[in-house]
Amino acid sequence: MGATLLIADLHLDASRPDTLRAALDTFAAAGACSALWILGDLFEAWIGDDAGLADGAASPGRSVANALARLADTGTAVHLMHGNRDFLLGEAFARAAKATLHREDERIVTLGGEPVLLMHGDTLCTGDAEYQRMRHQLRDPDWQAHFLALPIEERLAAARQLRAASRDAGSRKPLDIMDVSAAAVSARLQACHEAHGTTTLVHGHTHRPAAHGIALACEGAEPATVAARRLVLGDWHADGGEALIADAEGLRPVRCPAGIPLPCRG
Ligand code: MN
Repeated sequence: MGATLLIADLHLDASRPDTLRAALDTFAAAGACSALWILGDLFEAWIGDDAGLADGAASPGRSVANALARLADTGTAVHLMHGNRDFLLGEAFARAAKATLHREDERIVTLGGEPVLLMHGDTLCTGDAEYQRMRHQLRDPDWQAHFLALPIEERLAAARQLRAASRDAGSRKPLDIMDVSAAAVSARLQACHEAHGTTTLVHGHTHRPAAHGIALACEGAEPATVAARRLVLGDWHADGGEALIADAEGLRPVRCPAGIPLPCRG
């Protein structure tokens, strides 16, 4: 079992070529890992695989898919989760990238010998009711089918409108409601601890990389609390991003692409 690399929030876009280069360099160097997990918002925007993978598309979708496919060809399992920007990534992109697309909001995966809860993280921002209402609509399969059937020009216009509305809403909202809710984090970890023994949550989305300790209450147990943790992945910039690597020694932060090639054991 080799190392697993976890990243999120690359927000790749043609307008940020340095960040794209850092991502492509990371994918090219990650062959030492047995798996790569991308926990959402690989792309800044995604209005459908047909648009994103088109030759000459403004999106870097094709070059990213090719780089991920080359990584998969070295034997590294590539796993994709949706973010709130690229929730329309579909099977055509997954095929092109030779990746497994996980449509669920959450996955529990054994990393560094422990069952770790993985998610993008926006579902934990329960203080932002307006966002959660919009999310519910955007994740509706009927809405998505209708949207994906629109001409690309119309989808582009709708996406621009959505982004402007979200920027406007974001500037009106206090910072704390854009972060995860502590109650939502505790509730999810509590449930996953009871069901799977999970004490580690890894997510992105908030662009607030950190390691938070959390005490889970265990009713009737001795001791009455269990130490859990929430590891937050950072977003990417021109010089790359803060990732996590999981191997036999557990989970720890690593810079991408500077920290790669990675120490790989076994
Ligand atoms: Mn996000």
